[in-house]
Amino acid sequence: MKEASASLSQSALFQQRLAAAQSSLAELTAERDAKLRALTSFIGHLSLACKGQNLELDNKLAKLRVTISDLDKISDVLPELVDIERLLKHHYHHVMTKLEQGRDGLSRFSRQLQRVEDVPDKLRKELGYFKQDLAKPFHTVWDYIPKVERLMAFYEQTLALCFDENATPSYLPKYRQLAHELAQIISEIDFSKAQRDQVLVIKEQLAEEIDIDALLEAYQTIMSMLLTNIAAEKSASQEFLFALNEALVSVRDSINESFVQSQRSQQLKQQLNNDINNQVDNVESGLQEFTDTEQMKQHVIEQLAVLRTSLSRKEALELREVALLKQSVDALRQELGELTAETSSYKEKLFEQQKLNLIDSLTQLPNRAALDERMEQEYRHYQRHRNPLWVAVADIDHFKSINDSFGHTTGDKTLQVIAMALKNSLRDTEFVARYGGEEFVMLIPDVSHSDIGRLLNRVREKIKNIPFKFKNQRITVTLSVGAAKIIDGEHILETFERADAALYKAKHESRDRVIID
Ligand code: GH3
Ligand code: MG
Ligand code: MG
Repeated sequence: MKEASASLSQSALFQQRLAAAQSSLAELTAERDAKLRALTSFIGHLSLACKGQNLELDNKLAKLRVTISDLDKISDVLPELVDIERLLKHHYHHVMTKLEQGRDGLSRFSRQLQRVEDVPDKLRKELGYFKQDLAKPFHTVWDYIPKVERLMAFYEQTLALCFDENATPSYLPKYRQLAHELAQIISEIDFSKAQRDQVLVIKEQLAEEIDIDALLEAYQTIMSMLLTNIAAEKSASQEFLFALNEALVSVRDSINESFVQSQRSQQLKQQLNNDINNQVDNVESGLQEFTDTEQMKQHVIEQLAVLRTSLSRKEALELREVALLKQSVDALRQELGELTAETSSYKEKLFEQQKLNLIDSLTQLPNRAALDERMEQEYRHYQRHRNPLWVAVADIDHFKSINDSFGHTTGDKTLQVIAMALKNSLRDTEFVARYGGEEFVMLIPDVSHSDIGRLLNRVREKIKNIPFKFKNQRITVTLSVGAAKIIDGEHILETFERADAALYKAKHESRDRVIID
C-alpha cells in the first residue's frame, strides 16, 4: 500500500517536471522563431535593396524571399545560399571593375573637353582639378554618379560657348593640350635655384599660344634639366662613395703603417733590453775580477755610463713611438671627421630630397604619398598596441564658389591658409595631409570616443573663424568632416572608407559639421 502511494507521488513529480520542460521548450522555440523571423525579414529587405543590378541574382533572391518566409523550410535554403553568395561575390567584382572603367572613361572624356578650342582658361583649369579628383578610386556607384553629372555640366558649358559664338566646336590641336599638361607637371616639380628662372620663362610660353616647335623645345629643355638633376644626384652619390672608399683606404694604410712601426720598435726595444741585461751582467761579472776598490769604482762608473746611453736610447725610442702613434691617431681622427661631415651633408641632401617627394608644393603639407606611408605606420602601431586610432576626412564646403567668385589664385591662397590652420590645430603626434583638391585627411591617435567630437569640432570652428576678406568682402569658409575609429579585424583603408562615408553624410546634412561613424 505504502509502495503504491510512493510510486504515485513519484509519477506526479515526473509529470510536473515534464510539463515544466515542455513549457520552457515552447518558450525557447518561440524565442528562436522570433529571432529567425527578424533575421529572415532583414534578409528579405536586404535582398530587395540589391534588386535591379543583375537579373539572375534578382530571380534567386526572389525565390529566397519566398522560401525563408516559411520557417519550417529554412534548412532547404542552405544550398541555395552558397549559390547566391557566389553570385554576390561575382557581382561585387563586376561592379568594381565597371567603376574603374567608368573612372577611366570620365578621365578620357574630360581630357577631350579640355582640348576644345575657345574653352576659357577658368573652365580648362576646373577640368584639370576634376581630372585630378578622378585619381581617387570610387567606392560605390554613388561616387560615380555626381562625377558624371559634373562632367555633363562641363559639357553643357562647352556646348553653350560654342552655340554662343555660332561656331561648331573645334578642338585644340593635341600639342596645345600637351602644353597645358606640361605646365601642370612642371608646377609640381621642384627645380634647382639656378634652373628656376628658365622654368618660369617656359611656363609663360606654355600659357601663351605656343607652336609645335616651341613646345618640343620646351619639352627638350625640361627633360634635359631633369636629366641634369638626376645626373647631379647620381654623381653626388658617386662622389660620396669615392670619398668613403678613399677614407677607408687611408685608414687601412694608416693602421698597417702603425702596425709595422710598432713591430719594428718592438724588435728594437727587445734588442735594447738584451743589451741592458748584458751590461748589468757585465757589471756583476766584472766586479768579481777586481780586488782594488778604485779599479772597481772605475769599472762601475764606466758600465753605468754605457747603461745610461742604452737607457736614453730606449727612452728616445719610446718617445718616438708615442709621437708616431699620436700622429697616426690624429690622421685617423681627421680622416674620420671629414668622413662624418661628408656623410651628414649627404644624409641631409637625401633627407631634403625625400622630404620634397612627400610634400605638397602648394600647401607644404604632407602629400598623398606621405599619407599612405603614415597610414601604414599608424596601422602597424595600432596592431601592436591596440591604441585608439581615428581617421578623419575633411573637405572644404562649396570651395568651387570661391574659385568662381574670386579666381583660382585666391582659391589657392585660401587652401594654403586653411592647410596651415589645420596643421596648427593638431598636436605633434597627430597628422594632417592634403589628400587632393580641397580635401584633407587627419590621423589622430590616442583620443577616446568621447573626446574626438570635441576635438574635430574645435578644428572646424577654428577654420570657420578665420577672417577671410576677399575683394573687401568678409567670407566665412566652412569644413565638413567625417571620422571613424579603427576597429578590430579592420584594415585602416576600410576605416578610411567609413570616414569618407561619414563625410558624405555630413555634406548631405547641410555641411559645416562633424559626423562620427
Ligand atoms: P562641396 O561642399 O560639395 O565639397 O562643394 P565643393 O565646391 O567644395 O566641391 P566640389 O567637389 O564640387 O569641387 C571642388 C573644387 O575644388 C573644384 C575646384 O574648383 C577646386 N579645387 C580643387 N583643387 C584645387 C586647387 O588646387 N586650387 C584651387 N584654387 N581650387 C581647387
Ligand atoms: Mg568641397
Ligand atoms: Mg572635395
